[in-house]
Amino acid sequence: MKKYKKVSIEKEIVEEVYCNICGEKIAKNSHNHFEDFLHVEKVWGYDSKKDGKKDDFDVCQRCYEEWIKTFKISI
Ligand SMILES: [Zn+2]
Repeated sequence: MKKYKKVSIEKEIVEEVYCNICGEKIAKNSHNHFEDFLHVEKVWGYDSKKDGKKDDFDVCQRCYEEWIKTFKISI
């Protein structure tokens, strides 16, 4: 038989997100969820010049639309 007790666990939650391109805060909708945005995480491989470095950034929808217009090959 197991007896249980309740414990409180502290955890980190994302409070704010900023677009790395324009610096603006990603807005939250009426349900307190962030409006959709692009999040990129990349751990560079050993053969790259960044060897194991982790990059991550966030891009708002407006900047994303402008960014993809600069692509030589459209998506
Ligand atoms: Zn932006």
